Amino acid sequence: MTALQRKAILIKDKFICHKKNGKGNTLIFSRNHPTAKFVRVVVDSGIDKTTGKIVSKAGVKLCYVNRQKSWREITGQVFTTNTGLVKTIKAQEAAEKFVKTCKHCKAKKFTAKTGNVVCSNACWTAWGGKKKGASTTKKSSQKTTAQKKAATPKKKKPQKVTPKSQRTYPASKKSQKSSQKKSQKIVAEILPGDLVTVEEIEFDKITNDFTGSILGVVMKNTTGAVVVNWTANTSDLPEWDMPYTDTYHTGRRRHYRFKVLSRKVEWTKVA
Ligand SMILES: [Zn+2]
Repeated sequence: MTALQRKAILIKDKFICHKKNGKGNTLIFSRNHPTAKFVRVVVDSGIDKTTGKIVSKAGVKLCYVNRQKSWREITGQVFTTNTGLVKTIKAQEAAEKFVKTCKHCKAKKFTAKTGNVVCSNACWTAWGGKKKGASTTKKSSQKTTAQKKAATPKKKKPQKVTPKSQRTYPASKKSQKSSQKKSQKIVAEILPGDLVTVEEIEFDKITNDFTGSILGVVMKNTTGAVVVNWTANTSDLPEWDMPYTDTYHTGRRRHYRFKVLSRKVEWTKVA
């Protein structure tokens, strides 16, 4: 498990080393996704820039390079050792087809700080429409799940301007609800004072447990909206992925929920 070995795996796989790491002191590597345009496979090598030693597992994620050349994280980061590195890179590459695409500009969508899944190009800002319209527009187009979308071949249609009344807005809360019609509601009792960490859920299975790297105390729970004082986060989970509700719906590709450490709390399905 040497740093040298890790670097060699990445270089052999055509990754290039970045000069900068805006978030830490580890070496970042990336290369283009083999098929998806504007998508980069990004690996945080976990190798310390200064000492050249391994300080953490390697983290693999996908980023979309938007029109402004900003990189948007379109998948969560998956951590791996040297042994699993090639496999994890392949798995993340495969995850690309489950990432939703903006139907207006075809860019990949990402989860914004607000928790809403939005276009990487933020193309709606150029539409000239007001956000208010979203609440009066009923949606049907977003009912398809990410998987369904992946199964259907992409139609190449020339871009057309949708009349304002029919426009759909990615940031709409209603649209998120309608896309979850077939899924089940899962609820847990999260109470003020609870010591919590985070669990990553993918297709209804726990895929990552952040016990030991994320810790918080629940301050209040106002009809499901949970306010947490996060006291520690040594993981790479960005702030906008942190859970903030005591409810979620099944069938989502990947998301994060609370895990209560201070007492036994279970997530249960409700009718
Ligand atoms: Zn767009």
